[in-house]
Amino acid sequence: MFDNAKSWPFSEAAALQKEHGPFSEDALVRFETGFGPSGLPHIGTFSEVARTTWVMNAFKAQTGRNAELIAFSDDMDGLRKVPLNIPNPELVAPHLGKPLSSIPDPFGCCESYSAHMNNKLCAFLDAFGFAYRFQSSTAAYRGGDFDEGLRKIAAKHDAIRDLITATLREENRETWSPFMPVCPNCGRVYTTRVVRCDGEAATVDYACDGTFGAVTGCGHTGTMPVTGGHVKVGWKVDWALRWYSYGIHYEMYGKDLIESARLSARICTLLGKKPPAGLFYEMFLDENGEKISKSVGKGLTVDTWMEYAPVESLLYYIFQNPRKAKRLFFGMIPKVVDDYIDELRKFPNAAPEARPDLAVWHLFSGKPPAYDCAVSFSTVNNLVSALGADDRDLLLSYLRQYDARTDAHMATVEDLIGKSLAFYRDFILPSKVYVKPDATWRPLFEDLLAGLRKAEGQPTDQLHALPFDIAKAHGVEPPAFFTAFYQALLGQERGPRFGSFVQLVGVSTMISMLEKALA
Ligand SMILES: [Zn+2]
Repeated sequence: MFDNAKSWPFSEAAALQKEHGPFSEDALVRFETGFGPSGLPHIGTFSEVARTTWVMNAFKAQTGRNAELIAFSDDMDGLRKVPLNIPNPELVAPHLGKPLSSIPDPFGCCESYSAHMNNKLCAFLDAFGFAYRFQSSTAAYRGGDFDEGLRKIAAKHDAIRDLITATLREENRETWSPFMPVCPNCGRVYTTRVVRCDGEAATVDYACDGTFGAVTGCGHTGTMPVTGGHVKVGWKVDWALRWYSYGIHYEMYGKDLIESARLSARICTLLGKKPPAGLFYEMFLDENGEKISKSVGKGLTVDTWMEYAPVESLLYYIFQNPRKAKRLFFGMIPKVVDDYIDELRKFPNAAPEARPDLAVWHLFSGKPPAYDCAVSFSTVNNLVSALGADDRDLLLSYLRQYDARTDAHMATVEDLIGKSLAFYRDFILPSKVYVKPDATWRPLFEDLLAGLRKAEGQPTDQLHALPFDIAKAHGVEPPAFFTAFYQALLGQERGPRFGSFVQLVGVSTMISMLEKALA
C-alpha cells in the first residue's frame, strides 16, 4: 500500500523498511525524538515530534505494522548555565554541573528542574494529540534499562575511546572516557573524571577533581559500577546507548547534529546493533535569515502562532520539505494560512492515489476536513481592513453575502474571523498610513465613484474592468492608480483585486468608503 506515494514521509518510511525491514507481523517498530529539558519545549521540539509522527503514520499505513514514538528526555544531562528566562535563578545557580533531575525546580511546583520541563513537554504534546511514550533518561539509567549497554561500553571502552578521541583536540584526548561518574559526594557530573575503567567488572575508578566554569570538584575519589545510574555516558555515546538499548529504528535530527549522529551510529554498530534510519532537517530562521536560537525572545512560538492562525496552518508549513531551511515570522502567517486552506479545497478533487502526496493527508491521517468555501484568511483580513470593524456579526454578514457556503463552514469561518481580528490589531493596524487623493488623483476617484453609483443594484461581475477603463481614459498606468486607491481606502499600498473587493464589501459600502476618502 502507498508504494507510489511521493511525499517525503512515505520516502522516509520506504527507506526505513529498506534499512531495517522486513518487519515481522508482531514487530513493534520504534521511532524516537529527543528533548533537552534545560529549557521549555519550543517550536523545534514541536516540529520534530510532528515530522516524526508523519513518518511513523506513513510507515504504519505502508506496512500495517505496529509502531511507537518514544519522546526521550535527556534529564540526566548536567546543567551548563542558568537560563535567562527562568524565575529564581539564585535557586538553581548553586547546582551547576549536576544532572537536571537532581536540581530543584525554580518554578517551585515539581520535584526537580527537569521534572518541571518534562511535565511541560508532555502537556504541550498532549495538547496537540500526539501519540507518544515519554521516557526519562534518569529513569532509564536508574531503572537498569541501560545496564546491558553500559556493561558493553565498559567492555569496549578502548575501542570507543579510539573512535571518539580521533575527533577531539590533542589536549582533550588524554582524559576522555565515555563514562561520566556522578560524584556521590557533591552530586556533580561535570567535575568528575574516570581514572581507570575495569571492562570485566564494569566499574570505574573516578576522581571529582575537575573544574567546570566557576565550579570546582569536591576532591572525592572512589570506585563505582557503571550500571544503575551511578554513571552516565557522554552525549554521542548516550545517543548510541539509547538506540542500542531500546532498539530504535528511526530518528531524525537537526543539521547541526550530523557529525554527532555519524559518530553515534558508529558506536551503536560497535555495540552490535544497526543504528536507526532517519533524515536530518534544516533549522528554522527568523525574518532576516538568522538562526532562531540566536534571536531568543523575538522568534515565533507555537502559542503566538495560534493567536493569529489555526495550528494546522503551522503544521502545514512545517510539513513542507524538511530539508529546506525555513523562515518563521509573523508577516508570513496570512499566506501560509491561505496555502493551507487552498490545499483543503484541492484535496477532494485530487485523484485518490495522489492524495497522500498532499500535506493535509498527513495532517489529518488521510481524512482532512472538507472546505469548499471561498472565504480565505486574506478575504477576512481584507474585509476587516476595509471596514475597520471588530464587530464579528457584521463581518460574518458580509462574508455570508460574499459566499453562501459560509453557513456550512461556520466554525472554521468564525475561527478565521477571531484570528484575523488579532492579526489586524497587532500587525496591520499599526502600519496603516492613509493618503488622501491629491489633485492628480481626485478626478479618477470621482469617475470611479460615478461609475459605482451607476452600477448600484446591478450585478458586480462586470465591475473589475472599471478602474482599468478610468486609468486608460486619464492616460495613467493602472498599477499607480491602484496604489493611490489602496492608500486612500485601506492605508496600505496593496489590497485585494478590485473586482473581488467590490464583491466582498458590496457596491454601496465601496461608495461610502470612496466618499469618505474624498471628503
Ligand atoms: Zn564531587
